[in-house]
Amino acid sequence: LPGRMMDFPLTLNHLLERARTFYPRSEIVSRNPDKSLHRYTYADFYARTCQLANALTRLGVKAGDRVATLSWNHYRHLEVYYGVPCMGAVVHTLNLRLHPNDLGYIARHAEDSVVVVDRSLLPLFEKFKDAVPSIRHVIVVPDAGPAPEGTLDYEALLAAESPVFDFPQLDENSASMLCYTSGTTGNPKGVLYSHRSTVLHALACCMTDVTGMREADAVMPVVPMFHAAAWGLAFDAVLTGAKLVLPGPHLDPPSLLDLMAAEKVTLAGGVPTIWIGILALLDQSPNKWDLSSMRSMLIGGSAAPPSLIEGFQQRHGLEVVHAWGMTEMSPVGTMAKVKGPLRQAAPETKSSARASQGFALPFVETRVTSDDGTLLPWDGETMGELEVRGPWVASSYFSDEGADRFTKDGWFKTGDVVTIDSHGYVRICDRSKDVIKSGGEWISSVALENALMAHPAVLEAAVFAGKHPKWDERPLAAVALKEGQQVTKEELTAHLAGQFAKMWLPDDYVFVPQVPRTSTGKFLKTKLREDYGDHLLK
Ligand code: ADP
Repeated sequence: LPGRMMDFPLTLNHLLERARTFYPRSEIVSRNPDKSLHRYTYADFYARTCQLANALTRLGVKAGDRVATLSWNHYRHLEVYYGVPCMGAVVHTLNLRLHPNDLGYIARHAEDSVVVVDRSLLPLFEKFKDAVPSIRHVIVVPDAGPAPEGTLDYEALLAAESPVFDFPQLDENSASMLCYTSGTTGNPKGVLYSHRSTVLHALACCMTDVTGMREADAVMPVVPMFHAAAWGLAFDAVLTGAKLVLPGPHLDPPSLLDLMAAEKVTLAGGVPTIWIGILALLDQSPNKWDLSSMRSMLIGGSAAPPSLIEGFQQRHGLEVVHAWGMTEMSPVGTMAKVKGPLRQAAPETKSSARASQGFALPFVETRVTSDDGTLLPWDGETMGELEVRGPWVASSYFSDEGADRFTKDGWFKTGDVVTIDSHGYVRICDRSKDVIKSGGEWISSVALENALMAHPAVLEAAVFAGKHPKWDERPLAAVALKEGQQVTKEELTAHLAGQFAKMWLPDDYVFVPQVPRTSTGKFLKTKLREDYGDHLLK
């Protein structure tokens, strides 16, 4: 028997209209390249988004066309985030930290027809634009001077347009945004979100036991808007009417701390390398910044070391919430909130839950399988590949590649090697490509890294596979020390020996000033394997 309820579309247009109607005075604060602040309200944002939609219509942008951005986190990027999908086109975020060859490949693959690019990033764009024959218009955001000849000036375009736009009624399943995986483990692949998937993801993320975002929040996505849609934080903020604080290009710890304190940020999100830098600075100058407004700092994108979560909590009274996700999942899949029976448990059990990747959000389903597809038990010990499904999980990639990641019975193979415990908490041991296979045994690089980063002298540590004549692979560790600290390899081994079997201990350590990073700030293990993978053969 069919229900008799309205078939009302779940589109971003509703979020935009709602922001104008109910939250016209909520603020959006952005940091400019010269470090000055730009502030305006949701009412201004709405009007300018309409002007942008009018301008793009005049330029011939049609439903389904891809409009790319090459931009930092700022208010104009947000206007494109809404204006483009709400007019029926698709916003495609380009990752400005990628090599120009990769950007050329991605923009060509996406068949971008318009590119909105920050003036300060124009030199990067120049390096790959010729590889993208589909580009018809280049719109320059004048963040560092006027738009050069042959391009269109973002502000001049908007100034000529009406602040009213008649947004179309869209099908909720139409595409809203295109994001490419950052290619940490292979060629970047496009993930094409729909209005429906984005809206459902935002609703779930705002639930009290997820981010609990609300109108009274001041939300700062440190995670770039080009990295998995800034984890949806910009959509969540507009949905709830929260204040948005966008850090622009200034992502160094002092600049971020200044902004958090000045704008009374309550909720922020970033990858572990961002928070590692912030914790080190807070430890040096614990009283310099007033972070009393901060209620939750989201961390994800790669494994958050427990010592980082505890360091913020114990030394600075700040709550860090660990989450796991993937570009293919819009991206949030699990969040590590301590639930029910665990709240009464011993402190170590609670810390272990907080340091895990957490359990699935509503409507995300998780399972763990062996190589041959057998379902494995949720016993917290048996390792296998994590598979997921849900309304904001990709059903295929933008083109035909990667079909082997989707199972016949409708699940997505994450490529993450995990355990799931009886409470449903997922613990990531590794990405399948990073797992160290030593004489037939699997060694979790994440577990070793977490333990190394708990050593007081260690700032960052990444454990990776070194080729070995007898064991095939053995763990090696790249370690960056905190300023002014020293430690020997023997001391590091002694620190680990109490916690791991001898077989797991790294065969050697390389000391580096900083662990190399991917374009989204994760530890770049392919580079470590390239540079030091043969180290044990010498
Ligand atoms: P890329 O695959 O190019 O790195 P994504 O940002 O989509 O792009 O990366 C998703 C992957 O990041 C996951 O499959 C997982 O390996 C890793 N990841 C994300 N969050 C966490 C986390 N909290 N802990 C450990 N790994 C994580």
